Order: sequence, then C-alpha cells, then structure tokens
Amino acid sequence: MSLPYKQSQPSSREQRRADERAAAKQQRVAPAIADPVLLTPYGHRHTEAFCLMWYACECGHREQIWNSRDGVTPFGCACPSCKEPKLQHVDWNRDTYAPNHQPATGQRMWIDMTRDRARVIAQRTIDQVAKTRDVPAHDMDRIVEAVYHDGIAPDLVIWGYVEAS
Ligand SMILES: [Zn+2]
Repeated sequence: MSLPYKQSQPSSREQRRADERAAAKQQRVAPAIADPVLLTPYGHRHTEAFCLMWYACECGHREQIWNSRDGVTPFGCACPSCKEPKLQHVDWNRDTYAPNHQPATGQRMWIDMTRDRARVIAQRTIDQVAKTRDVPAHDMDRIVEAVYHDGIAPDLVIWGYVEAS
C-alpha cells in the first residue's frame, strides 16, 4: 500500500545508507575498485558472504568450507592433508549462497578474527621467524592489531570440535 505522505521523507535507515554510501565515496581513493557497499544481490558487502566454497590441493585433498559471515576469505591456506600452503579456493562458479547452512560436525568454516586468536597467530609468526634469525625489537600489540584487522580478518575453525579437558 502506498502512503504518499511518507514518501517525501526517506526512512532513517535509508538515510543512513545514503550517508554511508556518500561517506564511502568520499573515502574511496582507488577509482578502479568498486563501491563495496551493498555490492551483492543479497545486500552483502562481500561476494563470498555466507557461501559454501570448494577448496582443493594438488595433493588430492578437497573440501567444502563455509563462510559464516559477511567477510573476506583467503584465496589459499595450508592443506590439512599435506601441510603445504597449497589449499586453494577452486570452482568459483560452484560457490553456493547458504546463509542458513548448518555445518556438518568436522566441517571447517571461516569466522571473524578475535584479538585473542590474533595474539596466538602473531606469536606463532614471531616464533617461526625466530627459528632462522634474530627477531628485531617489535611492538607486539601493533602486530596483533595488524593480524586482528578490526575483527574482519578471516579465521578458520572446525565446527563441532570440542577440546578434551
Ligand atoms: Zn595438500
């Protein structure tokens, strides 16, 4: 039903979105990059939001990983079968939008980064470097923040895994 007297005023949400779009345009520095706001047909910021995606490795390992949020996912990561960093997102045309997906026990999924997890990753990276050379003086908190990336960096977890106590 049309309510003409309401049409002259955009809703606060519409206004906020318009403001966000305007702000995003002002912040945009590289004109070649598309405006990320409301990019997908589903209204998400990232094309891989809530998608089931196939990852494969040249060793033969293959698995479907679910992106549990509207966030970026890496093109590749370490393979759980051969340990090489060669597990890659493949068959992009088979990405399936699945916002209500219920992960199978043991299925891996992308989640948002947490600061605690970022600290573990940062420490592991430093320990890795320390194996081959002296690690220069560094600001640990800054490295953690870089890994954390405002919580939008992807982390990979196994659904249904319960640690033994
Ligand atoms: Zn592999």
